[in-house]
Amino acid sequence: MASTDPAHEPEEETAVETARRQLERAAAHLDVTESTLERLRRATSVYRTTVPLERDDGSTEVYTAYRAHHDDVRGPYKGGMRYHPGVTEQECIGLAMWMTWKCALMDIPFGGGKGGVVVDPKDLSTDEKERLTRRLAQELRPVIGPMKDIPAPDMGTDPQTMAWFMDAYSMQEGETTPGIVTGKPPVIGGSYGREEAPGRSVGIVTRKALEYDDRDVTETTVAVQGFGSVGANAARYLEDLGADVVAVSDVDGAIYDPAGLDTNDVEDHDERPGMVSGYDAPESLTNEELLTLDVDVLIPAAVGNVLTGENAHEIQADLIVEGANGPATSTADRIFEDREIPVIPDILANAGGVTVSYFEWLQDISRRTWTLSRVNEELENEMLNAWAAMQTEYENRDVTWRDAAYIVALRRVGEAHDMRGLWP
Ligand code: NAD
Repeated sequence: MASTDPAHEPEEETAVETARRQLERAAAHLDVTESTLERLRRATSVYRTTVPLERDDGSTEVYTAYRAHHDDVRGPYKGGMRYHPGVTEQECIGLAMWMTWKCALMDIPFGGGKGGVVVDPKDLSTDEKERLTRRLAQELRPVIGPMKDIPAPDMGTDPQTMAWFMDAYSMQEGETTPGIVTGKPPVIGGSYGREEAPGRSVGIVTRKALEYDDRDVTETTVAVQGFGSVGANAARYLEDLGADVVAVSDVDGAIYDPAGLDTNDVEDHDERPGMVSGYDAPESLTNEELLTLDVDVLIPAAVGNVLTGENAHEIQADLIVEGANGPATSTADRIFEDREIPVIPDILANAGGVTVSYFEWLQDISRRTWTLSRVNEELENEMLNAWAAMQTEYENRDVTWRDAAYIVALRRVGEAHDMRGLWP
């Protein structure tokens, strides 16, 4: 975790600080006009509303909700809606900026949006969560739409939440509108492969990064922090390719088998919470020990800010692939750069999620379902295209993989702004 020692520089940047810092770093390599940069430093708009909820006991609670729109020069706003007590306007803006870069890097015709309700979903019954979601869909109607802004699940929200949201929106519109949100269950227009997609994309880019270094995946050891949706799918993908996944963890701790774990036998967080740290493995470790294992690949796939100035010098992995959003602080990032440990950035690695969300939206608006094999094939293509674009910048400009990814994204967004011009 980040240091609290005032002698150390503050490590935990806010999401908006990180997003702006990355924008400036990428801009230093490009000819983006100051006018465009000035627009990109800010959100286009932030919608703030209140969502009243009738609790099960008959009382009324009023929650604050935000929907931030960063930039839509390349297409409708896209991004999650989270239910979390720590949601703030600034956080929504920062996360919306990240979505702009992620969509642009993937060359998906969407812009960046993000939103949330300041609520602890653990305090709500299922019925309360449904009523809150339906009312939220109504309150957000002025700023969302299948061609305008398409929300998705995030922390505290899930496919069922999206189903209620889609139903409420559709009732008000008078027509079934599956394209209003992504991350729905397949039975109402969700896409096959959506759930596995972020972990799968982490696996695909790990494979590419190993190939780039002329390393054989079958002779690779991998440690994965966080065996949830992203971590478990990445681990299973890499084990299928022949890698030895030697350690995985959940919030309570890690399990370790130097000979390689059977990742299909360990149930993930959704399948059975607590199963990972309770699994009968040769050794158990703390999460901190997992991060510093002598492995070929480290995949932090749990939460942000776990790789810090405190532990970055201790990391022994030869390659880090960011499954979670923002797992490395900027101090850690600089240390990895000095130590020449490549870090494949989150905006590429876990972008399988938004990419298959885009596929879901395409299926919804064209009313045509894709098979799982088509989804996976198209995801593979999109990931390889984005990898190739990032690799070109990495080689031509001699920058980090992260900077290369942001340069690709900003170049695309900047060119789109230049081409469309500024409406007077
Ligand atoms: P999840 O809830 O399915 O799993 C998270 C896992 O991390 C669980 O095993 C949990 O026990 C563990 N964990 C939680 N806190 C931890 C801690 N402090 N230390 C160690 N382990 C901890 O979540 P997920 O959907 O897999 O998301 C993981 C990360 O990936 C998040 O940063 C999320 O924002 C990001 N992400 C998720 C998606 C997606 O669609 N699921 C897409 C892109 C990015």
